[in-house]
Amino acid sequence: MPGEMQDWDLRVSGLIDHAARAHGAREIVTRWADGSQSRTSWAGVRHDALRMVQALRRIDVYPGERVATLAMNHGRHLAAWFGATGAGCVLHTLNPRLFDAQLAWIVNHAEDAVLIYDAAFRPIVERILPSCPTIRRTICFDSRAWGPDFEDWLAAEDGEAHWTAGCEQAPCMLCYTSGTTGDPKGVLYSHRSQVLHTLAMIAPSALDLAPRSVVLPVVPMFHANNWGLPWACAASGAKMVWSQTNEAEALCGLMHREAVTHVAGVPAVWFAMFEHLDRTGTALPPIRQALSGGSAVPRSVVERLMHAGVRVAQAWGMTETSPIATVAYEPAGWDDMSFDEQVTCKSSQGRPLYGVEVRVVGLDGTGVPLPHDGISAGALQVRGPWTVKRYFRAEDDAVDSDQWFDTGDVATIAPDGTLYLTDRTKDLIKSGGEWISSVELENAAVGHPEVSEAAAIGVAHPRWDERPLLVAVRKQGSALGAEDLRNYLAGKVARWWLPDAIEFVGSLPHTGSGKLDKKALRLLFADYTLP
Ligand code: ADP
Repeated sequence: MPGEMQDWDLRVSGLIDHAARAHGAREIVTRWADGSQSRTSWAGVRHDALRMVQALRRIDVYPGERVATLAMNHGRHLAAWFGATGAGCVLHTLNPRLFDAQLAWIVNHAEDAVLIYDAAFRPIVERILPSCPTIRRTICFDSRAWGPDFEDWLAAEDGEAHWTAGCEQAPCMLCYTSGTTGDPKGVLYSHRSQVLHTLAMIAPSALDLAPRSVVLPVVPMFHANNWGLPWACAASGAKMVWSQTNEAEALCGLMHREAVTHVAGVPAVWFAMFEHLDRTGTALPPIRQALSGGSAVPRSVVERLMHAGVRVAQAWGMTETSPIATVAYEPAGWDDMSFDEQVTCKSSQGRPLYGVEVRVVGLDGTGVPLPHDGISAGALQVRGPWTVKRYFRAEDDAVDSDQWFDTGDVATIAPDGTLYLTDRTKDLIKSGGEWISSVELENAAVGHPEVSEAAAIGVAHPRWDERPLLVAVRKQGSALGAEDLRNYLAGKVARWWLPDAIEFVGSLPHTGSGKLDKKALRLLFADYTLP
């Protein structure tokens, strides 16, 4: 006998209905690239999204079809998230930092029907459109230079419409991993997976979102689907602040003006922010929470944020996990910990949210589960209702028969459930049959006050197989030498982990989502011979 409660499909349109009903006046602010600002509200976003539903129907775009965006962060893009999904379509966020050929490949693989883009990306659109035959209509978000823009397109509609009905298992959003290895892979989220992920995210132990929160997502709307923040802010009634560009100065100005409480970004965002603050001799705006993810946040960053009174929430996840899977939240006993212990806790990848199970298995490919003893490092696997089962259009599942998905990350899990990410499987440095974590070397190096960024890669070695090469970027004005940095590292990592060589460069290559691009770096140093 089933329970006798009401049976409502969990759809993302329900989130914006709630936001408009319960927090309708809560603002959505956009700082555009030209420095101008505009404002709407959750009620305004809902009205625009409903008008977009009508506009999509008018141009014969059907439920299930893909509506692509090639755009940075702004309020119109937010309305398009809710508009496309509200029409029963699949919102497909494209990463403008990919190469043209990769973008065209993704558009064709997804068979996108509509493409809505920022004026700044018009050259990309012009270059890829001839090889993207499925796109029937293009609309510019923020310029009338090429015909009616997004606002004009919606102007003919009155918003007197209903969301397209559908079941909770229906797809709502598609996001491709940036494909640093092989072809990009599409992750097709369902309404249900996104709503469940949202409910887990807003909790105090996770991202701690509430109506009084003011959230500035610096993470782009096309990356790991923006960490689910649009849905989570709608569910919690938070104010959202968006910036079409990401210069630290503009972001700090916004934080001050709009009284931002939560900032979400990859570690590179914090590096850039600190550099700006140091250069201008200014203090961090009075934010309360820093959400960091995408790559390991160095201890030095956690320390600096915590010294400024900011709660740090490091999250681990990936496009395949919607993306938030674990969060370093405050465990029982937090108040009795020393500052150092608290920093250690926040520098971990945290514990799984309800809805996510994690385990580590042997790196030898046998899949034998390893103990959660905080020592045994293995391949990290994950499962749960917002973890991918099969990539879009793939013929086989991406999981084993027990639904475990192999993340490609290497980790240890402590007895209390805390996850410590060691590396990505492909970035580990194999020296004399033992593994060296490139991430730990990098984190130790950026702890040096004169190093702004560092990357460690394995370089072929006749005796040891591979040995580490550290490539570092000095802070402006620093004359730090390789030997000084090596001496500094000597106290921080095992002796046999010390890099055989240290090279200084002006900048390091980054991927489309702002992470260190180890693949590009390995190519740059392909012919490198260790001293
Ligand atoms: P990709 O970078 O492959 O396009 P994602 O953006 O989905 O894909 O990134 C997921 C990966 O980012 C994870 O598998 C992990 O290696 C890394 N990552 C994410 N969050 C963290 C974190 N908090 N600490 C360390 N690594 C992280």
